[in-house]
Amino acid sequence: MNLKKLLKSIMDNITNNLFELTTKQVYFFDLDGTLYLGNKLFKGVPELIELLKKQEKKFFFLSNNSSKSTEDYLKKLNKYNLKINRDNLILSQHPTIEFLKKNNYKKIFLLGTQSLKNEFRNEGFELTEEEPQILVLAFDQELTYNRLVRAAYILQKENFPYIATHLDNRCPTETGYIPDAGGIAALLYKATERMPIVFGKPNKEMLLFKLNELGTSPKNAIIFGDRLYTDIKMGKEAGVTTCCVLSGEITMDAIKNSDFKPDFIINGIWELLKEFK
Ligand SMILES: [Mg+2]
Repeated sequence: MNLKKLLKSIMDNITNNLFELTTKQVYFFDLDGTLYLGNKLFKGVPELIELLKKQEKKFFFLSNNSSKSTEDYLKKLNKYNLKINRDNLILSQHPTIEFLKKNNYKKIFLLGTQSLKNEFRNEGFELTEEEPQILVLAFDQELTYNRLVRAAYILQKENFPYIATHLDNRCPTETGYIPDAGGIAALLYKATERMPIVFGKPNKEMLLFKLNELGTSPKNAIIFGDRLYTDIKMGKEAGVTTCCVLSGEITMDAIKNSDFKPDFIINGIWELLKEFK
C-alpha cells in the first residue's frame, strides 16, 4: 500500500470508525434485509464469505424466518454459491425443536409451511389437529382461515401449551413488507387473549449457546442485522458488538428515536467487504 492510500485508509477509519468491524473472531449475520431481500442477494456477499473463510473467522447466519426448513435454507444459500453447511445456520426452529424434545412433546399442532412440517416430521414429531399436546406457531405462509379457527379453538382450552418460533411483526421482501409470525399471533390473540412463549431472536441464547460452544467471549463477536427490536436488542443483551444495516427494515430516523442504539451503522453489508479489503 502506498503512503497516500495508507493515509486515506487511516483517515477513513477515524472518520467512519469502521475498522473494529474487521477485528472480530465471530460474525453473526441476520438474513432477510441483511444478506438479501427476498431472492435478491446483496452485492459483495459471496466475496465477503470467501474472505471470512480465508481469514479463518467463524461465521453464522441467523434467522427468525421459520417459513423454510434447515435443508431448504441450505439449498437457498448454496444456490448463491456461499458454500456453507448446517453448522453455519442458527434458525428460530432450532431452539424450538430442542425445547419440544427436552419436554417430551410428541403430538404437535404446527402452524407452519410444508417445508417446516417436513423438518418437524424428520425430527420425529407427529403433526396433528386431533388431540395435540402443544401448539407451535411459525411463519406460516400457507395459512388458511380454517387452520386459524382450529388453532383458536385449541387455545381456548385452559392453559394449553403455546409456543412460537419467533414473533417478528413483518418481513421485508423486494416488493414490500409482508405479515410475519407476530401478525398471525396478533390475530389469535384477538380471539383468545393468549400469547405464546418465544424462542427465536431477541432471545440472547440464540447467540450465547454458540459462543459457549466455541469458547469465545461475546466481546470477540459482532452481529449484523436490520432490526432494532430483534438483532440489535439481542446483540446488546448478549454483550456482542452490534452493527445495523440500512438495507432492510430500519431507517436512520427509527434508529434516532429508538432505545436500542447499535454500535455501528452501515448502509449495507457491502460496506463491510470494503473495510476488509
Ligand atoms: Mg432481518
